[in-house]
Amino acid sequence: MLKVTEISFGYTSKEVIKNISFKANKGDYIAIIGESGSGKSTLLEIIYGLLHIEKGTVSWNDEKLLGPNFRLIPGEDFMKYLPQDSDLMPFITVEENIGKYISSQDKNKGKRIKELLKIVDMVEFSQTKVKNLSGGQKQRVAIAKVIAKEPEVLLLDEPFSHIDNFRKNKLRRNLFKYLKSKNILCIVATHDFTDALSFADKILVIRNGKLIAKNTPEKLYSNPKSAYIASFFDEINKIPLNEIDSNTTSKKMILLYPNEIKLTAKEGIKATVISSYFEGSHYLIEAILNKTTLFFEHPKKLRNNQQVFLKLTKKAAN
Ligand code: ADP
Ligand code: MG
Repeated sequence: MLKVTEISFGYTSKEVIKNISFKANKGDYIAIIGESGSGKSTLLEIIYGLLHIEKGTVSWNDEKLLGPNFRLIPGEDFMKYLPQDSDLMPFITVEENIGKYISSQDKNKGKRIKELLKIVDMVEFSQTKVKNLSGGQKQRVAIAKVIAKEPEVLLLDEPFSHIDNFRKNKLRRNLFKYLKSKNILCIVATHDFTDALSFADKILVIRNGKLIAKNTPEKLYSNPKSAYIASFFDEINKIPLNEIDSNTTSKKMILLYPNEIKLTAKEGIKATVISSYFEGSHYLIEAILNKTTLFFEHPKKLRNNQQVFLKLTKKAAN
């Protein structure tokens, strides 16, 4: 088990990681989400042992990790870390790049390389020099490289950021299935909500260096405690309660996803359509309700300036 206990860290006197604690088990997939600059990369570097922490501890199977000041080469052997901008050797082939991480004594080296290339869907590029690959292809080779040695813990920083959607889903399914089958703990920093929602066992949300939520994807999505959290998953509507209920003067806001607001026939909350945006399976309709702009989903395009009646399908106010 990985145990992060009350860690704080600053590059200068200003702390950018503030008293973070969490636990993760073997085989878990943990997603760390948070806006840019919130501390995701810093947190991964602390866990891997690249940054020295004055406060708090990181331990693996009840053994405290020493950190960079106490090791000749920073970084733990049982972990692999893929930084946001990882480096490959440009002038050798994909196969050679991955091969560097597999012992030449290994009789199955060739087979293993092929298996890794299959996971990242790069078999057809095995003989291509890395300098001739696209950004997304390089990222896929980099992923194969860090799983080559079967680490116990894998830390990935925005690993799919340059990979097109066309490939991303298949790659994620392959990779996370493989990691589960090998019982490898994987922690991914990401701002792509699918990485987190569809695959993670647990999501950690960080904001300004603080861990503000820690829960399963289902629970975080269906009951986000703040607009900050909800906005990772979808466009979020923040509606003042007194705009939809004339009986209250409460300044409370309610949070609703676009799929929680529905068009009704003749009664409900009156709003005016501003725009319709095609999103494939539906339209995202932008409308104005008194002074608040809101978004909801509808199967058809609506006429601009049209008056509509809306029903909110979620009662919870927060
Ligand atoms: P994220 O990965 O969530 O975008 P980072 O962990 O990279 O966030 O950064 C957290 C904070 O630490 C930011 O305010 C950033 O400016 C600062 N920071 C990151 N790296 C350094 C560094 N090497 N020196 C000083 N400050 C840094
Ligand atoms: Mg980062």
